[in-house]
Amino acid sequence: MLRRVGPSLRHFLLEMKSSAGYSSYSKAKMSRPVQARRLEGIDKNIWVEFVKLAATYSTVNLGQGFPDFPPPDFLKEAFMRALSGENHMLHQYTRAFGHLPLVKILAQFLGKLLGRDVDPMTNVMVTVGAYQALFCCFQAFVDEGDEVIIIEPFFDCYEVMVKMAGGLPVFVPLRPKFPKDGKLMSSADWQLDPDELASKFSERTKAIILNSPNNPLGKVFSQGELELIADLCVKHDVLCISDEVYEWLVYDGKEHIRIASLRGMWDRTVTIGSAGKTFSATGWKVGWTVGPNRLLQHLRTVHQNSVYHCATVAQEAVAQSFQRELELFGKPESYFVQLPKELQQKRDWLVQRMDAVGMKPIVPEGTYFLVADISEFKSDVTDVPDSDEPYDSRFAKWMVKNKGLATIPLSSFYCGAHKNKYNHFIRFCFAKEEATLKAANDILQKWKQEKTSP
Ligand code: PMP
Ligand code: GLN
Repeated sequence: MLRRVGPSLRHFLLEMKSSAGYSSYSKAKMSRPVQARRLEGIDKNIWVEFVKLAATYSTVNLGQGFPDFPPPDFLKEAFMRALSGENHMLHQYTRAFGHLPLVKILAQFLGKLLGRDVDPMTNVMVTVGAYQALFCCFQAFVDEGDEVIIIEPFFDCYEVMVKMAGGLPVFVPLRPKFPKDGKLMSSADWQLDPDELASKFSERTKAIILNSPNNPLGKVFSQGELELIADLCVKHDVLCISDEVYEWLVYDGKEHIRIASLRGMWDRTVTIGSAGKTFSATGWKVGWTVGPNRLLQHLRTVHQNSVYHCATVAQEAVAQSFQRELELFGKPESYFVQLPKELQQKRDWLVQRMDAVGMKPIVPEGTYFLVADISEFKSDVTDVPDSDEPYDSRFAKWMVKNKGLATIPLSSFYCGAHKNKYNHFIRFCFAKEEATLKAANDILQKWKQEKTSP
């Protein structure tokens, strides 16, 4: 009956309406459960929730991580050339695993950074942002019951993606050491306990996910910390998924060390990057994975059977921008030199303002996030002991609704019991224009004055 179309359709519908057939047809609603079991308990998403709150209430948005300043001209110009230039083939499909100019330049660039030959065809794969790179990794490597070690606080999707693949996340926290001398805390004061980390590895461990520089703390893992992780990976024959999307956003002359460059690690590591963070264009959603063919071949299997391919024009523009950066490598005109310099100034300004206002900042060594302690502002937002919702989440919601300032609660980057342990911090994104940061400071300053005036 469903095949009846065209001029006879109206007649058919009228017939159905006037017959017993219509009522039985309209009652034929599905009653069986439709949701796949792997989606159970993961329907809520911190970004969807807080982006909506920010759009509804905020006048100043330091929540979701994206720059509100424009991306560099050379990137936009490369996109315009790709879009309206003579090569109309840039509007068509390109190579599934990455547009040739992009994989070639990424291989050259990352080969230089990793100190090894990187083959563009087998060691690099382009993805729809780092998100899809992560998704490919978990789908490609994690089987039912496999354990994946996640360092807390962590970028929230790691846990969900492990679970969707049938794996079991195993958490290990960075433990804060509060400075005693009245100095500001640094993200470097959050460290792994080596014995605790070692205790999480077992024969069920398939992989560890590392994120350095770390979202949300801004921690840049030291050589020693990376060697500790690397030694455990080698000892237990475990994979490392290394999310390095903030690789260029490192301050105070600190060095970002790529775990894949450590002894024994290339063969077991997939390194993930993002043009969104690298060139301040998060909406472009161009990401990549780099690693040995032995691992990448499985990512290609997931990619070719799901996304297959990423937007050609954006890949071409990112390729040209990397070409520029390769030519200017280490020079003052390089965007990879200029961007961290500008962001460091913004970080320093915000750290100083936050400290003055009494929201104790944890000085980040990298990324464009700053986590601050809200304890001194607690009296304004009622606590509900034993509530399922961590205090910082209630606080961040109250603040956006009542003060117009959007942030992200730190507890969103924790799981289970730790959500309520680390529940008095909020995360600010400082990749913002001076006016935006000043407006945020004005809100906090005014709030502080209201609190202290009789
Ligand atoms: N990893 C981390 C640590 C992130 O903060 C983000 C968010 N941007 C991603 C991965 C996803 O990056 P992309 O926007 O390139 O998908
Ligand atoms: N990575 C970004 C952040 O941490 C946002 C990710 C998202 O919006 N899904 O703010």
